[in-house]
Amino acid sequence: MFGTLTDSFTNAIKKIRFHDDAKALSKALTELKKNLLKADVNHKVVKELIQQVELKTKAAGIGKDQFLNALRETLNELLDVGGNKGFVFAPNPPTVILMTGLQGSGKTTTTGKLATYLKNKGKKVLIVAADLQRLAAVEQLRQITQQIEVELYEDEATKNPVDVVKSALEYANSKIFDVVLIDTAGRLAIDDELMQELENVKKAANPDEIFYVADSLTGQDAVRTATTFKEKIGIDGVILSKYDGDAKGGVALGLSSQVQVPLRFIGLGEKMEDLEVFLPERIVNRLMGFGDVEGLAEKVTNVIDEKQAKKLTKKIQKGKFNFNDFLEQMEQMKKMGSMSSIMGMIPGMGNMSKAIKDFDFENSGELKNIKAMVSSMTPKEREDPDLLNNSRKQRIAKGCGLDIVDINRMIKQFKNAGKMAKKFSGKNGMKQLQSMMG
Ligand code: GDP
Repeated sequence: MFGTLTDSFTNAIKKIRFHDDAKALSKALTELKKNLLKADVNHKVVKELIQQVELKTKAAGIGKDQFLNALRETLNELLDVGGNKGFVFAPNPPTVILMTGLQGSGKTTTTGKLATYLKNKGKKVLIVAADLQRLAAVEQLRQITQQIEVELYEDEATKNPVDVVKSALEYANSKIFDVVLIDTAGRLAIDDELMQELENVKKAANPDEIFYVADSLTGQDAVRTATTFKEKIGIDGVILSKYDGDAKGGVALGLSSQVQVPLRFIGLGEKMEDLEVFLPERIVNRLMGFGDVEGLAEKVTNVIDEKQAKKLTKKIQKGKFNFNDFLEQMEQMKKMGSMSSIMGMIPGMGNMSKAIKDFDFENSGELKNIKAMVSSMTPKEREDPDLLNNSRKQRIAKGCGLDIVDINRMIKQFKNAGKMAKKFSGKNGMKQLQSMMG
């Protein structure tokens, strides 16, 4: 994520080397402008950004630090429309959110992703099927909610979304849900009928916030439709979907200031975990090539079950980390999503080679091999890695159809993972990890 945009900034930053050098500043600004336009950032936004950076740098006295500060400040102003938000909980539960968007924008998928995000935070979520326009929408929600184990409220007896919303909210209040996500109807394009329906649903739901899901692949159209939704029914936040498919990514930079509504989340794939909170300060760090250690830590904590983690830490400290734990760890990594979204958060890793960034845990041959190897072990061997002598390794290799060399390599990997884990499981583990990341 943000690869092209980050390149735009880091390339410009490289041009600034000397103190008091107006020529270097001009070169850096030209470079920045060219790259941002290439990344499809709206031209008015680019113009404003360049002007601001130039003014601020000159006011502070030309130099690298001044340029970096000016860039940081300007980016913050550009992205921070209405404060650093993420998800905002209402003072009294349930927090009611209306999910809106055009057909095909990714609204239904995003509803599932948001529910997953909230569930990972320990919240009890109810999804309401109020998109009664698209025939397959309710069925799609059934599948999603089953997969993520979140309750779905639906009412096949009525075709009126207002009735569904009213009874869903009564139900939510009686069962004490933390959050209610209402999936509303979409259309291929904005029309009066849709707006009227949304207005009626809005009245019935009295939502705490209305989110608009915009397809980033539609570029500036996403900005235009979001603006229309804002004018007609009022929206409190935009979620930009399909950002993984948007190689240029410029729309994310201008959207908040263009629509004057904060960008709150970004969708980065079709899986339920592929949603990231958009917090301007963190994003600015990433755009400037400084990574996002906080975001990474959050991602890890979301995925890891706390009780399980404590148990594992004890085992690791006692040197009792075994193959079952190893397999479990690999499964947890899988839940974090593709490597590319993780890499972008590690300082200096934003520009990693594509092959590494695209590493997919779920479909990785290595993970399959490890699984096969562990499956060929006896329960005792899984619990006690020290049992693995040569003849046992030969047997395992045969059992899973791999070479003994592979088995040795994977066992070595396992032992290294154990050592690393032990190192980071102590009191200062997280600090060590952070210092390693810069
Ligand atoms: P709706 O009509 O707005 O409810 O759209 P859907 O939720 O059915 O999504 C339309 C298509 O976009 C589906 O195939 C989704 O899997 C896909 N989609 C949604 N969000 C993302 C995303 O962030 N990345 C990618 N690659 N695909 C997405």
